[in-house]
Amino acid sequence: MFCRKFIDRALNRDMMPLQLESPLATLPRMTNARLRALQEEGLDTVQDLLHHYPRRHEDRRKFPAFPSGATTDLVCLRGTVIETKMTRFGRRCQFTLTLAEGPNTALAATVRCRWFNLRYLAKVLQAGQDLVIHGRPRPLKKGGLIFDHPEFEVLETGEPDSELIHLNRITPIHPSIGPWSPRMVRRLIFETLAQLPAASPGEQAIRTIHFPETWEALENARALLAKEELFEMQCILVRQQHRQVSGGAPVIRRRSALLARFLKQLPYELTGAQKRVLTRIFDDMGSGRPMNRLLHGDVGSGKTVVAATAMLGAVAAGHNAALMAPTQVLAHQHYGTFRNFFEPLGIPVTLRTSAHRETGENPGPRIIIGTHALLFAPESVGNPALVVIDEQHKFGVRQRARLSAQTPHPHVLVMSATPIPRTLALTLYGDLDLSLLDEAPPGRQPVRTLVRPHAKLAEAASFLRDQLDKGRQAYLVYPVIDEGKRADLKAATKEYQRWTALLAPHRCALIHGRLAAAEKETVMQSFRSGEARVLVSTTVIEVGVDVANANVLLVENAERFGLAQLHQLRGRVGRGTEQAWCILLSGEDAEDKLDRLKILEKAADGFAIAEADLAQRGPGDLLGTAQTGLPPVRLARLPQDLPLLEEAREAARAMLSEDPALESHPELRSRLGAWEKRLFAGIA
Ligand code: ADP
Ligand code: MG
Repeated sequence: MFCRKFIDRALNRDMMPLQLESPLATLPRMTNARLRALQEEGLDTVQDLLHHYPRRHEDRRKFPAFPSGATTDLVCLRGTVIETKMTRFGRRCQFTLTLAEGPNTALAATVRCRWFNLRYLAKVLQAGQDLVIHGRPRPLKKGGLIFDHPEFEVLETGEPDSELIHLNRITPIHPSIGPWSPRMVRRLIFETLAQLPAASPGEQAIRTIHFPETWEALENARALLAKEELFEMQCILVRQQHRQVSGGAPVIRRRSALLARFLKQLPYELTGAQKRVLTRIFDDMGSGRPMNRLLHGDVGSGKTVVAATAMLGAVAAGHNAALMAPTQVLAHQHYGTFRNFFEPLGIPVTLRTSAHRETGENPGPRIIIGTHALLFAPESVGNPALVVIDEQHKFGVRQRARLSAQTPHPHVLVMSATPIPRTLALTLYGDLDLSLLDEAPPGRQPVRTLVRPHAKLAEAASFLRDQLDKGRQAYLVYPVIDEGKRADLKAATKEYQRWTALLAPHRCALIHGRLAAAEKETVMQSFRSGEARVLVSTTVIEVGVDVANANVLLVENAERFGLAQLHQLRGRVGRGTEQAWCILLSGEDAEDKLDRLKILEKAADGFAIAEADLAQRGPGDLLGTAQTGLPPVRLARLPQDLPLLEEAREAARAMLSEDPALESHPELRSRLGAWEKRLFAGIA
């Protein structure tokens, strides 16, 4: 039971009621420094503050007894600090403390907590303090439990209403904001809510998400608010989709004779999936309305030839068609591939990058290959009727909005191998129709993947030599170009020297992002032609590079890379019929970091890896909405909330088809309008 006095104070009965729109400066005890910290986080009004949601909650209604046996279960404990100790070794340090359950007696159960390299803890944590910790313990060999880097909160007793705000409840743990600790943020939000007048159901959900009465109420509030935020995001995407298909686009029909000639000269037959996707693409391009399609296919599934066939369609109908790649290396590679495809048919192919421009072109329909940068100068690529964007995962709704702002609208085919989980595709690419290339070309064997400690380097090297002796080629990938400050990371330039000596007479070549475009192209050319047998590289080869004879990929300091990125890199091999190998070696001091990578040994499917990657990277701006131009998704949890996402999408569709201008929803209209203004910022 709380004292009446506390409740009255907490509710600030004598203060003016706040509004959602009130600036944070009107809150009591708001100093300039504190205000600035909030504003730096983009928080200006009470409403912004209330949207600063907790990361998680702790059940502090009743703390469990200290665990007695060996356990690794996540727990939240409350106890008294009875001992602290700071140990320094060189520049590093270790801080440990002993936490006792209840008063300090010889009989009290204890646990130990430990933090590394956090000097300031000695000032913050002292014997005698009342402490809440949250974390996962580890049983010690000699008995007892230790928590490494648990989260903690000192229960200061001096402040007013301390018990009411921080204890005896399901307590929110908010992200800290500059100098505002989670505890301070909690108090600020608590006091702010206390001053807000009685709330609408939506506002009630916001109260609940901060200070829920029960876990069930919390989940209901979260689902309600998550659905709201997903709904707004989907409204933006649906409106974008409407804009994209409004207006006409050139009608491009399938001209059988020319296509048949093209397909006949290919050294292989299209897979069923490739044919299926092409049918959809030609349906789109023949409809008189702009195509906006995402072609999603795992690495090596054969997207390039699908793009080429669609582009041939555009050229046959008398238009230009452009293909844009994210890197110059890839643009040059496509240029070579497309010349092989189209020169026999007498169709001109030109390369346009910022570093390369051909002169003396004949007029008439053509195929233009360039980098993404050229997308925004449509005249420089001859106002194409079809634009293909290859490997577009770093390319957001904002950029697509720019494309669709061009008149006339081009048909747009976006291709991606980035294994975004299916669940996210709907969010990130919700304005696009989706096609899947879900069948690998025949004869492919899965790449054999080996995750090994650094100590296996010598063995890996002899295996590599063996493969080279058999006539194969290899990629060796490093996390950095030069050694620089990170002595713990191997660097491409240095390792290139070592491999050159070690593997002679097999020739090595070196490529990285600092080489000039022409140099990069020379290096790639020598690798493609087989003159160089080994390509020592940074991640510049991550996407798209296609050399079928290369069958070994060795990555050092593999722990430095994300799962999805390693999967992309692995896609560089296994493009021929030969068994391919991907060897992931840890750095010297990082052998304990290999577990995370083990999934790559088992899973070949990019989607499974993407889900694991998502789980490993944990919460955060998973959708990369900041980059795509969409409002942030704060409460929806994907993929679990996929049903909510689908509901939200349907609701957005229904509302916008009934009331496209949102005349009867002025509030929503103005919120969406504000986002769309940012989305289109800078578009003429
Ligand atoms: P990605 O989808 O990763 O862009 P690519 O288009 O680079 O894949 O194709 C990978 C390799 O597969 C290329 O060497 C290409 O020639 C080959 N390929 C594509 N389609 C087929 C097919 N239907 N049959 C056999 N090989 C194919
Ligand atoms: Mg590709």
